[in-house]
Amino acid sequence: MRIAPARDGGLCRIRLASGELTAAQARAVAQASLEFGSGFIDATNRANLQIRGVREDSQEALVSQLVDAGLGPVTPGSDDQRNVMSSPLAGLDSHALLDVAPLVSTLIGQMQRDARLHQLSPKFALMVDGGERLAMLDHPHDVWLSAVSAERLVFGLAGRPPRFENNAPALAAVKTGHVPALVDALLQTFLDLAQPWQTRMRDLLTTCPIEEILGRVQEKLGFLLDRDVEHWRRPASDARLRFGVHRQGTGDSVCVGAQVPLGRLDAATLSALADLAPRIRMTPWQSVMLLDVPPADARPLVEQLAALGLATSPDEPFARLIACTGSPGCAKSFADTKADAQLLARSMPPAGDVHLSGCARSCAAAHRVETTLMAVAPGRYDLYGDAPEAVARHLTIEQAARWLARSTPDA
Ligand code: SF4
Repeated sequence: MRIAPARDGGLCRIRLASGELTAAQARAVAQASLEFGSGFIDATNRANLQIRGVREDSQEALVSQLVDAGLGPVTPGSDDQRNVMSSPLAGLDSHALLDVAPLVSTLIGQMQRDARLHQLSPKFALMVDGGERLAMLDHPHDVWLSAVSAERLVFGLAGRPPRFENNAPALAAVKTGHVPALVDALLQTFLDLAQPWQTRMRDLLTTCPIEEILGRVQEKLGFLLDRDVEHWRRPASDARLRFGVHRQGTGDSVCVGAQVPLGRLDAATLSALADLAPRIRMTPWQSVMLLDVPPADARPLVEQLAALGLATSPDEPFARLIACTGSPGCAKSFADTKADAQLLARSMPPAGDVHLSGCARSCAAAHRVETTLMAVAPGRYDLYGDAPEAVARHLTIEQAARWLARSTPDA
């Protein structure tokens, strides 16, 4: 498993299939973070977890504890080949077109077992969308697939499922049973064609026409790609469904969602979440969904989540604020973004999403956020809205809060 250096110690990413871990696994992560790290855990915008502050002499013991908990890759060297995102409600939303959870498992297993695919960049990412009502459709992916029915999925490269007429359309459709072969052909073709500097599909597309890629993929397949998909558009999803109580599939249980403030958990909170439900799903909004909850327990559970400090409604400040790691953990940061976001939360206007970024890399937001505060010095930010130019510069957090309040219609 990968442990990357960071300013506050090693950073151990734990990739979770469909964002899911059992209560026992959550306890193991919490315990490992206390034993070998700083006791803090990040919820990432790819629905994974990261243990922060891992001590250098503890790395081996940490990895062994996580592998024992069933959180490691299935083959050595394949930790990064688990970068397949799906909806937090995959397999749990009765309105979805397809339960993609088994397909996601198949793809992750297939990618881990093929040693050639271990050459893919750790950032090379896939998405499999079952048409759930809750889905992160704003993140671009190297390869995306989206169900159009239980029997067929469309796919595209270096982008996201089209939602509007002017979006880049899907490239082709395949039968559900053909998806593993299609994905393998796409990944092998990428590796056949990419130069060493081309680590992502978007890089390859700067030198290789999409039709050439599709032609080579077609040659590898024993079935024809259906190219008649130009007019397909993905129905909207509703990010607010990550909050509250929802019926889980067609069964008797419900799932309950809440937001982890600024994507940062401490070990005690993660352990407490594990005590509340047998299964937990992390989401790309850095939030959690507790699964398999008896309906009678749901309301008290929402209160327990609020008591743990999680945001339980989409209108709360911490449901509308994201911040990257910031200066305590990242050497590139100009400011302590998380501490500044805590300050901003006290005077957030009643509407609008805000993203605090320590530098222009924008790690916390793979999608466009209504307002971005870009750090330029400790405690100072340039403010961006829709346009590429800043609308206000060098603001303190108090000045930014006043600016937001003035520009929010409901304020
Ligand atoms: S956005 Fe910049 S400062 Fe923030 S975590 Fe990423 S690299 Fe570090």
